[in-house]
Amino acid sequence: MSIISDLREVQRLAEARRRRNLSLTSFHLGDLLPEIRSAHFADEPRTVDVAFVNHGSLACLVYDDLAAHIYVHQVLNHPDTPAEVFRLVFCHELLHLRIEPAEVDGRLVQHTPEFWQAERQLCQERSAAWCWIWCNLGDCLRLRPKLERIDVLRNWRAVWSRARLDLAACQELTAPHLAELEASGW
Ligand SMILES: [Zn+2]
Repeated sequence: MSIISDLREVQRLAEARRRRNLSLTSFHLGDLLPEIRSAHFADEPRTVDVAFVNHGSLACLVYDDLAAHIYVHQVLNHPDTPAEVFRLVFCHELLHLRIEPAEVDGRLVQHTPEFWQAERQLCQERSAAWCWIWCNLGDCLRLRPKLERIDVLRNWRAVWSRARLDLAACQELTAPHLAELEASGW
């Protein structure tokens, strides 16, 4: 990417984060986040909030010493997105506050083996949630292994409008490929 396109991308991201979207989920996200915090992150001193944004990666965390903001892409903002998916997103993002990036094979990475191990321990729904994500949204997701994130492509609105399979159906279809998909982080 050139410097100009990098700057445009930064501007688009900032604009998306200013324009937060109303939640369309079938449950109250405002209840789920505190539930996960008190169960697994009671020692976290920062305030944490969540917002849906229509640009950027599938989910990301921006934080300073006082506050953390979880930005979730609009492609997940749907009545059929199961709570298990948000439990995984919240556990994952909150773990970034606890587990520092570290050098692995000469490269500084956010998703260290310790990070994945902690995520497996905290989030029982992890595999089911990953399967659901890849099965239903895979057509608009792009793995960016070197950047350690999953980008949402421009066709996401078409994917959002499709009918979605449930967790059990997705697990049956996607489970054999899960190991290679989940290893890239987000
Ligand atoms: Zn991450």
